[in-house]
Amino acid sequence: MNAPFKNLIAGEWTGSQNASRNINPSNTNDVVGEYSQGSVDDLNNAVAAAKAAFPAWSRTTPQERYEVLKKASDEILARKEELGKLLSREEGKTLPEGIGEATRAGQIFAFFAGECLRLNGESIPSVRPGVGVEVTREPVGIVGMITPWNFPIAIPAWKIAPALAYGNCVVIKPADLVPGSAWALVDIIQRAGLPKGVLNLVMGRGSVVGQALLEHKDVHAISFTGSVSTGRKVAAACIAGNPMKKVQLEMGGKNPLVVLDDADLKVAVEAAVQGAFFSTGQRCTASSRLIVQAGIHDRFVEACIERLKGVTVDDALKAGTTIGPVVDQSQLDQNLKYIQIARDEGGKLAFGGELLNRDNPGFYLQPALFTETTNAMRISREEVFGPVANVVRVKDYEEALAIANDTEFGLSSGICTTSLKYATHFKRNAEAGMVMVNLATAGVDYHVPFGGRKGSSYGPREQGAYAREFYTTVKTSYTLA
Ligand code: NAD
Repeated sequence: MNAPFKNLIAGEWTGSQNASRNINPSNTNDVVGEYSQGSVDDLNNAVAAAKAAFPAWSRTTPQERYEVLKKASDEILARKEELGKLLSREEGKTLPEGIGEATRAGQIFAFFAGECLRLNGESIPSVRPGVGVEVTREPVGIVGMITPWNFPIAIPAWKIAPALAYGNCVVIKPADLVPGSAWALVDIIQRAGLPKGVLNLVMGRGSVVGQALLEHKDVHAISFTGSVSTGRKVAAACIAGNPMKKVQLEMGGKNPLVVLDDADLKVAVEAAVQGAFFSTGQRCTASSRLIVQAGIHDRFVEACIERLKGVTVDDALKAGTTIGPVVDQSQLDQNLKYIQIARDEGGKLAFGGELLNRDNPGFYLQPALFTETTNAMRISREEVFGPVANVVRVKDYEEALAIANDTEFGLSSGICTTSLKYATHFKRNAEAGMVMVNLATAGVDYHVPFGGRKGSSYGPREQGAYAREFYTTVKTSYTLA
């Protein structure tokens, strides 16, 4: 199969012989496109191109980099409907969610266009007479990026934009399940005036292209988003190589949403249903553990079920769909497996969990809500990554906080309460990188740091001005005048 959508290496769209079919999860008869499956040779050529481009690109002025990023932002935003449609077609999130994600990618490029102009250093008096000290930031070098399937344009955007803004060259391997959005993004950035080789795209399998990227001696840093098990391999490979690579990992979550007796019921139900089930629950920040105080528990569960009866699970591109399909058969199998595990462990399936038939063949699953679960059950401890959530009943705030923190993950943590005392205490004591009060655990701004603690993240934060910690390296210079 000769793919029409090829890899970008040294500024040229070049094809390897192998290709894979990108299938629409809302309609498995619909082929979104055929995309190159890169080889180790492709990857090596991409790294060589990035290496050749680095000396000139790293010395461009902030104005030159600003112009490329701003132009890319303008085109992404001008084409957000079309890009959103492509995204929804290949990944299965609803069209409004797809357009929202494409818009976010455009906003990220606008933000980092501005960051090009804001990079600064420090001049510090030395403790020694006559000596001056300067602290400056330089690009890290060649940055390899490995991205997951659930945010096919936003995650490539929030890695590529800061990398380019701070003068790095890039080789990106997007998720092989959904390469279309990353391909479209890279095409836009390349045409925005980037010199050849600064940005390279090699699509294909993690075990082939991803592994070769991790092992390449000319790659200085790896930014990875994906599962914990792959993240561990990525970190190990980055440390094992010579030279060692700088590494940043964003991984899974089992995010708690605490609902206290004094919560506004409507606010809590909206936060829970949006956070747990929208985007088909396929978000690292999904509110998959609902920790609910006894006094509000029954009213909350009843209201969630009523709200869930009103959602429409259907084709992602259809008007009126509120939840799209699961991304593919293997993720659907995983969701069904966990629904069975939760049942076997004694959880009560209070709503949903059934496969649904729609006009076209697709991976349609009714959102599943479990009650009568404990925090010790596997459904509370392991990331399902689908529209499956469970309720754990607690007696008071102290128990809620302890259970919220009793997890190996630490990405996002939420509380619904009208009490300033509990909200303030929770913000200080939640063991997570992001804390939400009266909001779903998912849904974040694009201009502030994103990331977690414990098993969810490793290394510096992504996004906002904090992204510079990963994409630059600090130099301290001493001068005797
Ligand atoms: P995954 O770990 O299976 O794959 C992620 C990427 O790693 C893919 O591009 C894959 O091809 C690549 N890969 C796989 N094996 C590799 C190897 N041996 N060497 C190098 N690369 C390899 O994850 P996924 O299923 O695509 O994504 C879902 C996961 O991502 C969930 O756990 C989710 O929570 C997480 N996620 C985290 C965040 C965050 O910011 N914390 C955001 C989105 C998704």
